[in-house]
Amino acid sequence: MSADRPHVGVLALQGDVREHARLLGDLGAEVSLIRRPVELAAVDGLVIPGGESSVIDKLARAFGMHEPIRDAIASGMPVYGTCAGMILLADRIVDGIEGQQTFGGIDVTVRRNAFGSQVDSFETDLDVPDLGAPPVHAVFIRAPVVEEAGESVEPLARLDDGRAVAVRQGSLMATAFHPEVTGEHRFHAAFLDMVRAA
Ligand code: GLN
Repeated sequence: MSADRPHVGVLALQGDVREHARLLGDLGAEVSLIRRPVELAAVDGLVIPGGESSVIDKLARAFGMHEPIRDAIASGMPVYGTCAGMILLADRIVDGIEGQQTFGGIDVTVRRNAFGSQVDSFETDLDVPDLGAPPVHAVFIRAPVVEEAGESVEPLARLDDGRAVAVRQGSLMATAFHPEVTGEHRFHAAFLDMVRAA
């Protein structure tokens, strides 16, 4: 990796892979789509996109990616997950489908589809002190929420009711919403800083 041009991957099993790849490329990263362990081994950071966490979980196991991703997380590779990606980075989930697994790494309990069928999707402005002004315009699509977090988890943003919707723990970061669909680039820029620092 050259210091100014980090090489990062987007897990490309299912979900909004292109949006992440385009944004990371616009920010100057070299971007690879990741489907196989050998491809994962070649990058210095990974984005897990939004999509359907149970499908990404099943495909990751079918493609032999579950253990390699767990190992990469354990070895300190920076990973950023949005929405389904947040679910996949959670140590514990509520309302997963039967047998659903996660890669884990962030000491949180995350509830899938936390806003129910009545409020499937919504948008709101979130204050994210780490990112400064202006607030983040956040789009939630059948989004998860953090129900409980361990002491080493840093909440980056909360809803008005106090529940965390963006968290960081060491080299792992997750948002319940989708910056990649609104042109919000600051989370991805922060992720690339984490990759450069790793
Ligand atoms: N509800 C989806 C899941 O369970 C996540 C939705 C999303 O990524 N936009 O994975």
